[in-house]
Amino acid sequence: MKISNVNKTFGTKQVLFNVSLDFPAAQTTVIVGPSGSGKSTILRSLNLLEVPESGRYDFDDLHLDFAKKISNRQKLALRKKTGMVFQNYNLFPNKTVLGNLIEGPTQVLKQSRAAALKTANELLAKVGLAQYGGANPQELSGGQAQRVAIARALAMNPEYILLDEPTSALDPELELEVLKVLLQLAREKQSMVIVTHNMIFARRVADKIVFLENGHVLFDGAPQRFFAPNNPNERIRNFIASMTMENLN
Ligand code: ADP
Ligand code: MG
Repeated sequence: MKISNVNKTFGTKQVLFNVSLDFPAAQTTVIVGPSGSGKSTILRSLNLLEVPESGRYDFDDLHLDFAKKISNRQKLALRKKTGMVFQNYNLFPNKTVLGNLIEGPTQVLKQSRAAALKTANELLAKVGLAQYGGANPQELSGGQAQRVAIARALAMNPEYILLDEPTSALDPELELEVLKVLLQLAREKQSMVIVTHNMIFARRVADKIVFLENGHVLFDGAPQRFFAPNNPNERIRNFIASMTMENLN
């Protein structure tokens, strides 16, 4: 999955400038950077929740030119390949946990209810929530709700899952239980793109780090190089120092 020379403007404000990024399959790409730098806009563009005004998007045999109209067929095909997980879970409030997990597979993928339930129960076990199939979303902690949202994304069997600050709304202990699930998925070579402010997690999980500022890609490479004390980019060194509070004394 890759985007090339992408530009995106909201009103008169350009928020992405000629962004070209490759998201290798079977790897975890982590996008970091200050608020407002364009991280969510990139993630949302990968799922076509936003459509940039120019640039290309290549994903397997799908080749989109953002300057041209994107057909519904292309949109659906791309959305099948990418599952989105949001900061605030966005679970269906009037469905049980299992109801949330089988909705897409039965309605969109036309799976039988029995097949969808079987997969759903396996995925709940995988995220540590085997006992929670009958629960309502309101009964869950934030960490549990986010793990259900991850299971729900996986239930659609997408090629990539896209996670936008998946733990930003969570207390630290609840954050940890979500990060463990994501780390496990990374070990299983699930293709992922994760936006996060958690630098400890980014360093652990990333095969590749992207640093954005003001809509420009300032770094695109290996986490070892990104986090190296001698990273030649002073802005990035300062960003890491402030995010890890290493100068708090
Ligand atoms: P990040 O996720 O890195 O915080 P975003 O991609 O959400 O950044 O936003 C990048 C810039 O685009 C910000 O200046 C934000 O205010 C602006 N922006 C994002 N979405 C919209 C929108 N729907 N309408 C207008 N401006 C937007
Ligand atoms: Mg954002």
